[in-house]
Amino acid sequence: MASVLIFGKDGQVGTELQRSLLPLASLHAVNRSQADLGQLEQIHHTLKQVKPKIIVNAAAYTAVDKAETDSERAFCVNAKAVEVMADYAKNHHALLVHYSTDYVFAGDQSQPYQETDQPNPQNVYGHSKLAGETHIMESGCDHLIFRTSWVYAGHGNNFMRTMMRLAQQREQLTVVDDQFGTPTSAEMLADLTALAIWAHQRSQLESGLYHLTAKDQTSWHGFAQFIVEQMVAQGIPVRVKPEQVLAIPSAQYPTPAKRPAFSYLDSSKIERALAIELPAWPLHAKRAVAQLAQLAHL
Ligand code: NDP
Repeated sequence: MASVLIFGKDGQVGTELQRSLLPLASLHAVNRSQADLGQLEQIHHTLKQVKPKIIVNAAAYTAVDKAETDSERAFCVNAKAVEVMADYAKNHHALLVHYSTDYVFAGDQSQPYQETDQPNPQNVYGHSKLAGETHIMESGCDHLIFRTSWVYAGHGNNFMRTMMRLAQQREQLTVVDDQFGTPTSAEMLADLTALAIWAHQRSQLESGLYHLTAKDQTSWHGFAQFIVEQMVAQGIPVRVKPEQVLAIPSAQYPTPAKRPAFSYLDSSKIERALAIELPAWPLHAKRAVAQLAQLAHL
């Protein structure tokens, strides 16, 4: 069994990876207290101790707005730390699996973004994630980079959980309806990461960059309305009525970081490579609503 080191074990994707990779590998998973990606010597130390054949990096500085005023730290975690992992992978013939973001794109396109489209990040987080991708590719290490979007899970902190909490507290919600993308489940990402590693180990999936999201697109408002409708359909107590989830333009909800208006990723390259059909986003979203409703606190 290959030895796999997971960075970011307590995040949404990291939590799911500990489940999905278990049958494939001997797992060593670390969180920030065991390896702080802001302290590069801690990454060196962990790699030296674990000697992984596969590194899966699910850790990232994901606070998109905070990154605008904390760019040094965002770049350290999302780019410099990734460079250390990539150099290790190159020097030790290991595979580096890494996640990146739809926010590497400007969002001014009307067609789904392909891997060959030119990135043009509009915020610090997007720039730092793109720098991480570049370090991996320039290192020449064996790699799988999965660009994904709008990640949620039935645990952790995410838009879905926030909407469910607010839906139980308020009679009206206002959510932006002029940013389009694809909600993607951490569970699905982790399951497909396992499949991709398995295929890569058998020379059935090439090293490279892949877009990996669920199918179809919606707006944040569409996603919020779906969440509230699901709460009602699943008998979860809710204060707001679905018709009281109101659409507003981004101009009425200013944020420190600019977001792309359209960041729908075309994931057909990975579908072809693995001979799979990705599900439409509502499939996993329904289940995550049910899972979140079981938590002691939303
Ligand atoms: P989460 O925010 O849920 O998890 C990120 C994890 O990284 C957390 O466990 C966090 O630890 C850890 N982390 C942050 N800083 C450090 C550090 N200095 N040292 C060690 N660990 C650290 O993210 P997701 O699981 O949702 O994201 C997984 C990947 O997907 C990331 O690469 C992200 O960029 C990408 N992605 C995510 C999207 C999203 O909507 N969430 C959208 C597109 C891409 P702690 O809990 O201690 O903060």
